[in-house]
Amino acid sequence: MLGLLAFGVTEFRRIAVLGPGLLGGSVALAVRQRHPRHAVTLWGRSPERVAEIRAAGFEHVTNDLNLAIDGAELVILAVPVGALETLGRQVLEAGVEPGVFVTDVGSVKVQPHQSLGALMQEKGVVFIGSHPMAGSERSGFGAARADLFESAPCILTNEQGLPDEDVNRLGGFWAGLGARAAVMNAAEHDRLVARISHLPHALAVVCALVALEGEEDGKFAGRGLRDTSRVAAGDPLMWAEILLENRSEVVPPLREAAQVLERLADLLAGGKGEALRAVLEEAQERRQRLENSV
Ligand code: NAP
Repeated sequence: MLGLLAFGVTEFRRIAVLGPGLLGGSVALAVRQRHPRHAVTLWGRSPERVAEIRAAGFEHVTNDLNLAIDGAELVILAVPVGALETLGRQVLEAGVEPGVFVTDVGSVKVQPHQSLGALMQEKGVVFIGSHPMAGSERSGFGAARADLFESAPCILTNEQGLPDEDVNRLGGFWAGLGARAAVMNAAEHDRLVARISHLPHALAVVCALVALEGEEDGKFAGRGLRDTSRVAAGDPLMWAEILLENRSEVVPPLREAAQVLERLADLLAGGKGEALRAVLEEAQERRQRLENSV
């Protein structure tokens, strides 16, 4: 795994963002705000959604895929992981030119590179994966923010073995939106995010399910419960797809988490104060490291 890298500012002057949700909308707003001379077009599958977005003040939005990608130097697929391959095929059928860059923002990387990446490579399209580690439990254009990527890590995956120069160009695009780009291979990415993103999601689900037993209990909750269960409010369909697609990497840390819970329960049941304090101290120290790593 490589560390965070320094990239130049974006060279892409025409960008198409496919999928006008939280991530896609945020990319479009960020490009518009930070690079006003660059052209960004947003594509959505639904005419009603497109009309809503235009009414909200973002004019360069269409439900015509050909129009969206016409002349684009960079095409960003910002749809759920389960929809990536179909949309990628549509992009190829629409006649995206060889040499054009295509990336996604999906939360899992091995599978998209095997399917979509291979298809793109056959057509001479430059496919490099992106995973901006930014987002929220909200979805849709209404939740999009121009500053979503500021200081956020963005992991790039280059499984098709493209030249460093291409990776640098894409890294420059994300850096131009304020992100801190890093490069790793897709398997490393999936293993890492299973622990730092997918496990926390599963634990937020556990927290919501176990803590909020009675319908009225939340009325008495403070910030702690809100913090620890926040991401469980995310879209269940999207999260089920992510967890399933990365299941081989998510199951081991999930089982490890179950063992830690068992151990905590045993320590409590046995009244083992010293051992319990040691576990809490270890957790406090690791959480402090997280604070220091920003
Ligand atoms: P979102 O707000 O729900 O937006 C998803 C967008 O994809 C919507 O505009 C939706 O269109 C469109 N879409 C859904 N299915 C489609 C299909 N079959 N064909 C074409 N368009 C389709 O979700 P998001 O949070 O932006 O997530 C997008 C991607 O970002 C996902 O791959 C996710 O893994 C990744 N990601 C998310 C986060 C996060 O925190 N949310 C963080 C990093 C990466 P409609 O409006 O018509 O339904």
